[in-house]
Parts: sequence; structure tokens; C-alpha cells
Amino acid sequence: MKYVPDATADRRFESDNTVDRVGVDGLLSELDEYAVEQALQIKEKADGDVTVTALCVGPEKAVDAVRKALQMGADQGVHVTDEAIAGSDYIATSLVLAKAIEKIGIPDLVMCGMASTDASGSVVPAMLAERLDLPQVTFAAVVETQGDQVRVKRDGDIATEVIGGTMPLVLSVTDQTGEARYPSFKGIMAAKKKPLETYSLSDIGVDPAQVGLSVAWSSVEDATARPPRTAGEIVKDEDGSGASALTEFLVSKKFI
Ligand SMILES: Cc1cc2nc3c(=O)[nH]c(=O)nc-3n(C[C@H](O)[C@H](O)[C@H](O)COP(=O)(O)OP(=O)(O)OC[C@H]3O[C@@H](n4cnc5c(N)ncnc54)[C@H](O)[C@@H]3O)c2cc1C
Repeated sequence: MKYVPDATADRRFESDNTVDRVGVDGLLSELDEYAVEQALQIKEKADGDVTVTALCVGPEKAVDAVRKALQMGADQGVHVTDEAIAGSDYIATSLVLAKAIEKIGIPDLVMCGMASTDASGSVVPAMLAERLDLPQVTFAAVVETQGDQVRVKRDGDIATEVIGGTMPLVLSVTDQTGEARYPSFKGIMAAKKKPLETYSLSDIGVDPAQVGLSVAWSSVEDATARPPRTAGEIVKDEDGSGASALTEFLVSKKFI
């Protein structure tokens, strides 16, 4: 799960046009809360022992996202943080995540959100599947598991697909999978005692030269704030001339 700038607070860019992820309020990406929820539901329905591990790659503050998942009910947390990771693109982010997952131990299910709420690339799960050499089932709106079998409903523009897969696999879930739970007071207290590990790049065997902005395959050259909205033009209906005034306005803007 990703730690993202809070969309309701002030968000900024750094001088190199990367997102300021340190000097602004952040939180567990709301779209990733659905993945945490689905993981917890699978654990609750399973017969055997299931361990839910919350994994996040991000700056120091990103540990808050891991804590939130632990408060919701995840069993253990892993936070990968290293100054060299700042400015990483999808390719580097997926590399770090894959190496961290390999260190933790490849699980039956790697669960992701459908997209992050800041960059919304929706590509990290697919890249992870490729790196881990696992099948992928993405954009699941309904998730069912039985033993090592996974069945999902995937809503497209013109059809709904039902896709089956055998674990281990990478699964990404949408906001249609059902409301994510709020941490209870008991959950918040219990989270304080849950294991939470911090990995650096050297812990997971990633060379700092493979990550960061300097090796990103793309870069944002410039970003400009959208100009504030100007006041609209009001067409008044005086003496019954409103319709023709409106027509003239629409013609002048080439809308008709
Ligand atoms: C304004 C802006 C500027 C950017 N500039 C650049 C740039 O110049 N060059 C460049 O290459 N990239 C740039 N990026 C992309 C940035 O590096 C991506 O945020 C990052 O690579 C991950 O992609 P994503 O957020 O789109 O993830 P998605 O593919 O949308 O994420 C899907 C799922 O993958 C998982 N996931 C994604 N990231 C993490 C994580 N860190 N930890 C744990 N799980 C995760 C989550 O479950 C998430 O729901 C920019 C992004 C923004 C918002």
C-alpha cells in the first residue's frame, strides 16, 4: 500500500518537479484501504492460518500508512525507506516492492489497490507480477477465494468478466469491493504491539544506483497550477431577448 499526499490538504511539488511527500500531510492511499479490507476478509473466512503483511515503500512518514493497516487488522508491517528511493518511477518502485516481497517470502496473494490516489498509474501491480514471475488478476470488483483458487469479477466498459486464477498470484482490487473498515479502539491499541520492520535498500539487496529520480525513465519538466476560475458570463432574459442572446453567446464560442 502506498502513502500519498492528503488530497484535501495543500499539495506541492519539490524544485525538481517531484511530489513533495515529506513536507505535506500524507495518509494511506484510500484506494489501498480496499486492498487491506479484502485481505482481512480473506483471512477471516479462511480455515487455516493466514498472515496479512502490510508493505509500503515511501519516506520516513510513510510508516503511518503501515500503522493504519495494522490498526485495521493486518498482522505485521514492513516499511521500506531509503533516501535513494526518492523520485523513483514505476520501474524502480516495482523493483523495490518485488525485492521486499522476496525477502518477506512470496505469499499466496500479493494484493494491491487499483491505483494510487496521486499518480494513478495502475501499473505497479502488473510490473510486480512480471518481476515476481506470478500471474496477475487486476481490477477485481468482487473477490472470492477457496483454497488456492481465486475468482474475481472484473467490470469493463462493455462486459463483466469472471476470471479464475490459482495462487500464488498478484491481485489488484477496485473501490467496488466494499467499504473498508475503520480501525476500532481495540485495533489501535493492538497495533502498537504488532511487529513492524524497516528495511533499507541494502536489506533487500537493491543497488541505490537502480532507483531514484536520476534513473527514472521519464521526468516531469514543468508543472503549472491551473489558473483560478474566472466568473461566468450571465445571459439575462430582458424583454424576451434571452434566447437570442444565449444563441449569440453560444455561436461566439463556437459551441453551436
Ligand atoms: C505529480 C507527479 C509527478 C511524478 N513525476 C514522475 C517523474 O518525473 N518521473 C517518473 O518516472 N515518475 C513520476 N511520477 C510517478 C511516481 O513515481 C509514481 O507515483 C510511482 O512510480 C508509483 O506509481 P503509481 O503511484 O502510479 O502507482 P499505481 O500503479 O497507480 O499503484 C497501484 C497499486 O500499487 C501499489 N503501490 C504503488 N506504489 C506503492 C508504494 N510506493 N508502496 C507500496 N505499494 C505501492 C498500491 O497497492 C497501489 O494501489 C510522478 C507522480 C506524480 C503524482
